[in-house]
Amino acid sequence: MKKLAFISFFGKGISEGDSSMKDSLGGKGANLAEIASLGIPVPPGFTITTDACAKFYENKETLPKGIKENVAKAMQRLEKILSKKLGDTKNPLLVSVRSGAAVSMPGMMDTVLNLGLNDKSVVGLAHSSKNERFAWDAYRRLINMFGNVVYGMNHRDFEAELSAIKKAYKVKQDTDLDAEGLKKVVAAYKNLLQKKMKKPFPQNPQTQLAEAIQAVFGSWNNERAQTYRKLNKITGLRGTAVSVQSMVFGNFGQDSGTGVAFTRDASTGNKIFYGEYLMNAQGEDVVAGIRTPKKIVTLKKQQPKMYAQLDAIKNKLEKHYRDMQDIEFTIEKGKLYILQTRNGKRTGNASVKIAVDMVAEKLISKEEALLRVDANLFEQVFHPGIDHKALKTATVIASGSNASPGAAVGAIALDSESAQEAAKKNIKTILVRAQTSPEDIGGMNVVEGILTITGGMTSHAAVVARGMGKPCIVGCADLKIKKNSVVISGKEYKTGSIITLDGSTGKIYAGKLDLIPARITKDIQKFLGFADEVRLKTKRAGIADPFYIRANADTPSDAKLAYEWGAKGIGLCRTEHMFFNEKRIRVFREMILALDKESRLKALKKLLPLQRNDFIGIFSEMKNCPVTIRLLDPPLHEFLPQELQSQKETAKELHISLSKLIERTNTLHETNPMMGHRGCRLGISHPEIYDMQILAIIQAAIHCRKKKISVQPEIMIPLIGDYKELIFLRKRAEKIIHEELSKAKIKMNYSIGTMIELPRATVTAAAIAEHADFFSFGTNDLTQMTFGFSREDISTFLPDYKEHELLTEDPFQILDQEGVGALVSYATSEGRRIKKDLSVGICGEHGGEPSSVAFAFRIGLSYVSCSPLRVPIARHAAAQEISRELVHAKKKKLAAKKKK
Ligand code: ADP
Ligand code: MG
Ligand code: MG
Repeated sequence: MKKLAFISFFGKGISEGDSSMKDSLGGKGANLAEIASLGIPVPPGFTITTDACAKFYENKETLPKGIKENVAKAMQRLEKILSKKLGDTKNPLLVSVRSGAAVSMPGMMDTVLNLGLNDKSVVGLAHSSKNERFAWDAYRRLINMFGNVVYGMNHRDFEAELSAIKKAYKVKQDTDLDAEGLKKVVAAYKNLLQKKMKKPFPQNPQTQLAEAIQAVFGSWNNERAQTYRKLNKITGLRGTAVSVQSMVFGNFGQDSGTGVAFTRDASTGNKIFYGEYLMNAQGEDVVAGIRTPKKIVTLKKQQPKMYAQLDAIKNKLEKHYRDMQDIEFTIEKGKLYILQTRNGKRTGNASVKIAVDMVAEKLISKEEALLRVDANLFEQVFHPGIDHKALKTATVIASGSNASPGAAVGAIALDSESAQEAAKKNIKTILVRAQTSPEDIGGMNVVEGILTITGGMTSHAAVVARGMGKPCIVGCADLKIKKNSVVISGKEYKTGSIITLDGSTGKIYAGKLDLIPARITKDIQKFLGFADEVRLKTKRAGIADPFYIRANADTPSDAKLAYEWGAKGIGLCRTEHMFFNEKRIRVFREMILALDKESRLKALKKLLPLQRNDFIGIFSEMKNCPVTIRLLDPPLHEFLPQELQSQKETAKELHISLSKLIERTNTLHETNPMMGHRGCRLGISHPEIYDMQILAIIQAAIHCRKKKISVQPEIMIPLIGDYKELIFLRKRAEKIIHEELSKAKIKMNYSIGTMIELPRATVTAAAIAEHADFFSFGTNDLTQMTFGFSREDISTFLPDYKEHELLTEDPFQILDQEGVGALVSYATSEGRRIKKDLSVGICGEHGGEPSSVAFAFRIGLSYVSCSPLRVPIARHAAAQEISRELVHAKKKKLAAKKKK
């Protein structure tokens, strides 16, 4: 048959599309076409392409004529295939009109079921199904959904009508209403619609179809869909596709049902078939969390034949897609249909486990496994849990299903708005709801955790929370929500009261429990092993060493942690942090406040052994890996007390008068300290400070060497803007080092390099490289200085920049590759032009941000350095960048081979 423009058929033997066509058919449409051609039972239908959606928007939100005609033709073809007619009074065809973009946006757009029913065809359906009750139930659902999706009417208004009729009939459940009762519901719904819309529910099925298609296209730009795309950074799509699919019914009676299943456990990743279903239910009933569904294992007992079929299909789908699948199914009178399949959303832990398992099962390669785990999701596995000690004395006040792992502490908030209000005031909250719906996503995004009364593991709350990496507990039946409080197991908790959730166990605790960092499982270790393997074997043109991950660590205990997390070196050890320690700050202040050189030297002498010990500790923890130590960087006034009370105390401690202290503080005051007397400028004005630090470093190194601990000290001079500053400071440093080494009669490799954080330094990098053994980009300051954005104050205007799309990201979080990144790249190549093997790294906050790590790898840097806890994230990010290339190249090769 001739292919219709904007239309793609699917069904047994008629599929015109496949899963590679997600851009035009949407994920849902493309996969339906693909699995139908695999012989999996799919109710036939057709997908209207995303191009039609784009045309719809070009055409002022109306369907252009050509598209309308082709939809009509496609509908006729579908009627012919099924020997049923839309709106027929004997054996009517019913369809669903489903949304589906290229990227899955669960529950964000709209779907209408049972389309084609009207006052006449409902009688036809009753006749053909031999089930009058069923027909009227389907009809009332259509009016409700149509009113809601197409006309924007409130679902709750329909519910109110339904409740009133249930009351009149003295029944509790919807399923207890008989055909007569449902006829009343239909009449009430039609009245409601007429009253609200000032027009009747459209009786013409063609009108229903056209309006529903337009509404689904329209839902592409509804508020929640837009918010979802923004939060998930989904851009560049043409719109949604619309699938028009013949209906199958899970609400035919007790031999019918509908459900959602995951081929593996989406929460743990365990290889067990996981899912939930409801008998005698339709479509959204399971995910809406209205009735609490049954577990799929029950189906095995209830309907062994159906279960066996479903299990076989599950295996087939997983093998075919080589990934965990999220499947929608419906059983109509003992016959199984698959209505959707997609790669299942999963928790970070599940995602790692599934990837590692699938490598073992030889389904995917290690590189593919690395790509399977989303960088943001990977972070989740490092989420905190509740401290065991705290658990001993804590009392569980209630529990529910452990829908999304990790622990959270926060104040109870009962709605999205108040959670968002609280977030503005930096108050951490837990969102407590009967159930969540897509309108809540703004609130869910800011809270620490989510708790709901109803719903299962596939409910909206559960799915969204897992995607966001937030702890979530659902189906907590011991919970009642009042106006300004919740009653948990009989006890009342006001909004604002603190509770603790453990999303990994499903337990809820009163009050604040201590949290501890995540547990690193064997699977995570294995996964990181893949990452290191891929990274360390990868050579880049013209660069001798592989790409390394270092950590920023200021103390021996940080260094230990960093080493455990897999850091091969320290990229930034900030010496000033050593001085903030309570005992030391006094001596340090003494040094700053010293009026003459002599008393300053005296104070420095006291600091020397303290620093030396720290360095010995750090060198020892870092076991022969390079350690970059930055000399004192912040302006001195930062170390002095600013408030009168503490000024008084300090004056007393240091035996000086308060007025002297204040006077000295005032002299040190600067209008613009971040561009003031700091960094190497301190070393130039007060060389004795840097002298002491260099002495401490080299003496520590000598000490370690004598203890047979090998060390690689790297001395980093901050804030160089011109090579002459570096020459000046380097000379002085080398003199001290040589003296110490010859005194100890030891030969040792050491290096002296610089932190590049000023635009001028990047531009004159070649000259600087003549005198530097390494470069380390301090991308925080470099970003600040390049944009001229103050790091402290950007939050005052960043929201405006984001709103007007002048910036999509905070450049202090995600490296600005075009601007700051270009400077980094230029300075690197200039530096390496002078010294071929110059070691170059990033030690700013960006060193642990996945896209910035990937960038650092691409432009040939030697390493990135980040906080210890982010080291595994960086290891993964770098390996992902490499794997992307490798997998892509392999695919291309395969495709070329196929062509031949
Ligand atoms: P969403 O993207 O929100 O999941 P869907 O288009 O998948 O929306 O549809 C919502 C629900 O209706 C799902 O449970 C789906 O299985 C069900 N459904 C959709 N089309 C049909 C159909 N033709 N027959 C039976 N159930 C359907
Ligand atoms: Mg939906
Ligand atoms: Mg769906």
